[in-house]
Amino acid sequence: MSVLKDIFVSRRQAADAARKAQMIDSFESAGLGYFWSTDAQGNIDYLTPSAFSNLGWNRKAVTGTPISNHLLPAEDPDKGNERPLSFLLSARNSITALTVKLKTDIGDVWWEISGKPQFDASGEFAGYRGSAKDITHSRTEAAANDRRTQVDTLTGLANKTQIKRFLTQNLRVFRNTKQSCAVLMVDLDRFKQVNETLGQAAGNELLKQAAGRLGRIASDKISIARLSADEFLVVMPDVDDRAILGDMAQRVVQILSQPYAIDSNQANVGASVGIAVAPYDGVETDELLNASEMALFAAKGSGNGKYRFYSSDLKKQAKHRGEIESELREAIAKDQLRMFYQPIICAKTHALKCVEALIRWDHPERGWISPGEFIPIAEESGVIRKVGAWALRQVCEDAQNWPVEIRAAINVSAVQFEHDDFVQIAKKALIESGIEPSRIELEITESVFVGDYDGIMKIFKGLKGLGVRLSLDDFGTGYSSLSYLRNAPFDKIKIDQSFVRGCTEPGNNNSAIMRAIVSLAEALDMETVAEGIEAKDELELVKRRGATHLQGLIFSGAVSNDELLAKLESGVLTYDPRGPEKYRADRRTEFRRIGLIHDDHRYDVVLRNLSKSGALIEGLLRVPEGTEIVLDLGGGQLAVATVRRSNEYTQGVEFETPLISDGADGLCTRHRVSPYQIEAAGRPLAALPDDPYAAMSSGYQAHARPKAFVQVDTSRRDAAA
Ligand code: C2E
Ligand code: MG
Ligand code: MG
Repeated sequence: MSVLKDIFVSRRQAADAARKAQMIDSFESAGLGYFWSTDAQGNIDYLTPSAFSNLGWNRKAVTGTPISNHLLPAEDPDKGNERPLSFLLSARNSITALTVKLKTDIGDVWWEISGKPQFDASGEFAGYRGSAKDITHSRTEAAANDRRTQVDTLTGLANKTQIKRFLTQNLRVFRNTKQSCAVLMVDLDRFKQVNETLGQAAGNELLKQAAGRLGRIASDKISIARLSADEFLVVMPDVDDRAILGDMAQRVVQILSQPYAIDSNQANVGASVGIAVAPYDGVETDELLNASEMALFAAKGSGNGKYRFYSSDLKKQAKHRGEIESELREAIAKDQLRMFYQPIICAKTHALKCVEALIRWDHPERGWISPGEFIPIAEESGVIRKVGAWALRQVCEDAQNWPVEIRAAINVSAVQFEHDDFVQIAKKALIESGIEPSRIELEITESVFVGDYDGIMKIFKGLKGLGVRLSLDDFGTGYSSLSYLRNAPFDKIKIDQSFVRGCTEPGNNNSAIMRAIVSLAEALDMETVAEGIEAKDELELVKRRGATHLQGLIFSGAVSNDELLAKLESGVLTYDPRGPEKYRADRRTEFRRIGLIHDDHRYDVVLRNLSKSGALIEGLLRVPEGTEIVLDLGGGQLAVATVRRSNEYTQGVEFETPLISDGADGLCTRHRVSPYQIEAAGRPLAALPDDPYAAMSSGYQAHARPKAFVQVDTSRRDAAA
């Protein structure tokens, strides 16, 4: 019985084994996977036959050779710590779903392999047996997918996810190697206008071209990405010199501001740049990007085409802007805006011809706020449309009470032009007030010409159709192009005050520029207004250059409507020049408290005057000429300087390294105290604190020698002055 049973069992086993072998056969031949085995030395002794043909491997040549010669570790950034096959094999570990790359002549092939070590009856290691699956297809799919999620499909640049990952990886490494990393956040000015007027396809084309231009500055060190619609990021590792960064920003602005040819149209946009440097302005990716965004915002706020470095002051400014913006929304409803009027007179007779309406905000707590402060915020936030409509209504209404020969000039922001309804708004104000349209002059700056040229021309036509006059404001400061002048129906050109300023100084070519503008205007049959005349010598020269109209403090500043009415009622409609004989060069005068460091001692001094090469300081008694000092200009800006002139408590010092432009109208040092230095003084690594010098120096004050100079308080002198 038991013999029979044994036969049965062995038959069943044999049948099972045969079935198994059949199943393996069909598994192998269906291409569902492969089997492999090695001997105790790790040499291949079996591989599914179809694998050889699929891989283009020669069976004889491969069999008997080490398996690890043929299966290479797959490079997989997300599985960086996976142990390589050779390690697993030599340790006789089980292998589960390990991705390997195969050495073949037919291109990249990836397998996912599993296997188990085998032991003979005596417990001796006998090699591996295992299976494998070809995952090449799904792997390339996944890689393509990955690439799709990392690349901006429109421009081919890295996208935000990718650049953030790159930054995070780099910042981590740089922290250890104590390197810096700068980011320049770039935003196109007036891109929205191109999109709206020329259409999205044209907008996309412009973005592609812009990306192409930016791509030209990329190198193996400099990376470029597109962050959002019209926002780009330039990453520059190892640069913290703000002179280099400022130059780079300027280059970016310049290349992006060249005209774009799109189909048969020409589009113009500008660019603004915000710069932040790790670890100075931020240690982590998000902190750094936020800092550069804030700097970008400040650059936009100070006019288009500018760059700006991040500084902790910007945080306070951003808060202030936010407050102004929300208060401005209410200002119209609460009747806090006021119109003032500055006379524009005939150059020959000094008779009043026109007044320019200049808006002011009578703020209940902050006092009078100048348009220079709130108009850019209004433009940025869109409130300008309401402000502009109010200005039109108010001026038309006021002007109804003046003699009919007096015109009113109204400033119109380029943002108001972006909307097609501007002509309608102007028409409504004219009709409601009943004013004769030819008494109204709209002052427009060159910045309106950025964007869709044909659309702008249409608005100009519409306005001329209403019968108003057009005047080109601030001529020469912006995107000046003679073609605007030839084609746009201007009645008047206003020569910007920057050309009047200093025009009489020797070696200044403003006077020649003025002559050119005047003869251009004459040829085009337009009037000219010289703006901002303050001194008699300027007045003389402006007249000699042939400007037909004059405006400036030398005749009158902007006055309230009541004051203007009083003047008009007096019957004397001419103005006499009143002002200094000569214009005195405006020195950058500052009254800022800064630190002066000498011999490890820190003194408080007052900064009276700052230029690129030096400064005038006040507050220390009798500092000998030749003394070497360090000025702490704030925000980690330490400037090494030598006292060149000394007079009681005032010293003129010369910087060892000249300051550079901060992109706005200030100056800054090229380098700052590095957060790595502060870290070395025993603090955790962080972005620069408000007073980095204090953070760094607290350790060695105790060993300092006695103070060499006497500090004097000059603030009482200020009060008397
Ligand atoms: P703008 O149109 O170029 O106006 C001339 C500016 O020069 C005015 O500054 C005026 O007060 C100032 N100014 C006139 N004469 C002299 C002078 O002799 N010396 C000096 N240093 N300055 C002089 P304000 O009133 O601060 O206006 C600044 C800018 O704000 C204006 O520049 C204009 O672009 C804008 N703005 C003013 N009112 C409005 C408005 O109602 N709407 C819009 N959109 N912008 C306005
Ligand atoms: Mg103006
Ligand atoms: Mg102007």
